[in-house]
Amino acid sequence: MSTLFISDLHLSSERPRLIEQFIKLTQGEARAAEALYILGDLFEAWLGDDAVLPDMAAPIEALKALTESGVLVYVMVGNRDFLMGEGFEAMSGVRLIDDPTVIDLYGTPTLLMHGDTLCTDDITYQQIRARVRDPAWIAAALAMSIEERIATAQRMRAQSRAHTQATAEEIMDVNADAVTEVLRKHGVTRLIHGHTHRPAVHSLQVEGQPATRIVLGDWYQQAGLLRCNKTACELVSE
Ligand code: MN
Repeated sequence: MSTLFISDLHLSSERPRLIEQFIKLTQGEARAAEALYILGDLFEAWLGDDAVLPDMAAPIEALKALTESGVLVYVMVGNRDFLMGEGFEAMSGVRLIDDPTVIDLYGTPTLLMHGDTLCTDDITYQQIRARVRDPAWIAAALAMSIEERIATAQRMRAQSRAHTQATAEEIMDVNADAVTEVLRKHGVTRLIHGHTHRPAVHSLQVEGQPATRIVLGDWYQQAGLLRCNKTACELVSE
């Protein structure tokens, strides 16, 4: 038995091949897994549970079939799909989990995060994040008409793209102190996160203890996947 972790699929009608690959995962390897964790940015955009984009119906159906088969699927929201809520849980059968969440992964307490809160050097991003994750902002956004939400999302996307292009790569990576601090705070020696699209397994020290930070790969060109079982975790892309 294994537990699978993916993130940053950014499912969008612009990349139909990756939607197919996601559906294939839900019908194939994930069926035999104990659990599937999706650590943020499953969707390129999520305008609210009442405004599902037509091309997302098939991947949601695939999740529903997977959860109905008895596989536990846990979803953390990312910076693209943070408007997901109970409606999404109902239509897909998944369970939304908080960012961060600590799980017991075959005996090793493991911290799961999307990863964007670790990018503390990117002050502009953190300011925007604080604004849009405020419950009042979310309530106002969900009260908008769907046309207004589309326009707002497009405006935010353009601003984000301009910011990303104008910001150095290292600013947009995680901050090393933020990583050690979060591991220390939760008393764990393993962290799994996505967001940065820099798949790797990093070794570090936290209060004299060896610790591991596993970064999941995105799904722009190929499908990144972390497969863990009792003995090991393996980061693959296919
Ligand atoms: Mn992200």
